[in-house]
Amino acid sequence: MRRRLLSWYDGAARPLPWRRDADPYRVWLAETMLQQTTVAAVLPRYEAFLRRFPDLRRLARSREPEVLRAWAGLGYYARARNLRAAARRLAARPRGALPRDFDSWLALPGVGRYTAAAVCSIAFGRPCAVLDGNVARVLCRLFARRGDPRPPAAQRRLQGLAQELLDPLRPGDWNQAVMELGETVCIPGAPRCPACPVRTSCAARGAGLQGRLPRLGRKAAPEALRLDCLWIERKGRVLLWRRGADEPVLKGHWGLPEARRLRTRAGPVLRQLRHAITRYRVTLSLRRGALLGPPPAQARWVPRPRLRDFLISSLWRKSVGD
Ligand code: SF4
Repeated sequence: MRRRLLSWYDGAARPLPWRRDADPYRVWLAETMLQQTTVAAVLPRYEAFLRRFPDLRRLARSREPEVLRAWAGLGYYARARNLRAAARRLAARPRGALPRDFDSWLALPGVGRYTAAAVCSIAFGRPCAVLDGNVARVLCRLFARRGDPRPPAAQRRLQGLAQELLDPLRPGDWNQAVMELGETVCIPGAPRCPACPVRTSCAARGAGLQGRLPRLGRKAAPEALRLDCLWIERKGRVLLWRRGADEPVLKGHWGLPEARRLRTRAGPVLRQLRHAITRYRVTLSLRRGALLGPPPAQARWVPRPRLRDFLISSLWRKSVGD
């Protein structure tokens, strides 16, 4: 099975830019971007990010707003903040070399088991198996695992299985081959079994269960979040608000101020929209407003043509009609 899957991968792997070389910084960046985000969404942003921050030192010297701007469109901005924080920590190491072992990667901000295993196996050839949603689906089908793969105990068992299967000579390619199979052939819903290089070893296919595994429990429904925001403009400048670390979404981002934060007089509704952010379904209502009294410390007047530099998230872009 290893031989068949690896030789399929050698011929069928998509020529993705992060596969051109095994530079650890690039692998780390790509694997961080690819968490919760599709390849199609990552592709244009990966290249643009690398033009701006071509190596660890440049990223470590960056200012946070620059990094968030380069991350625009990918969402889950905590990833960008953690990436920068980890780069600063790594650049401060003696000689600035990137670590080669799993535990050192795991100790960095924002690096979980998946990213640590991906970087160590792909960039350094270490025998560390990755487990993400694609790998879990492939394993559940190959071995006809009938339980929900998401609870922690099931994840531990699948991690052990992934580790047993790992090709010791080509661990990075093996990990990528399993993920590639899950993304392009062993897809959710109806897998494309006739095109699968490991179909003869697949227990789910043998039992006719390929379309029914894995059996996922019910996903938690998204939480509703209402934002009543204000468009306050004076002499061509718009009042923006820096969101605190305690906000449920877009922590630390510049955004339009929420009415509850300011003493204002609210005017007519300008726009209403819905937007999904992480586990929230946001309903945003934007009214014209007038500020009563001086702006508080977290607020700042920004000239209209510069709004794009501050309003990074697609929620704000949509709310100002960009
Ligand atoms: Fe997935 Fe079908 Fe291949 Fe089994 S045979 S691993 S279900 S694509």
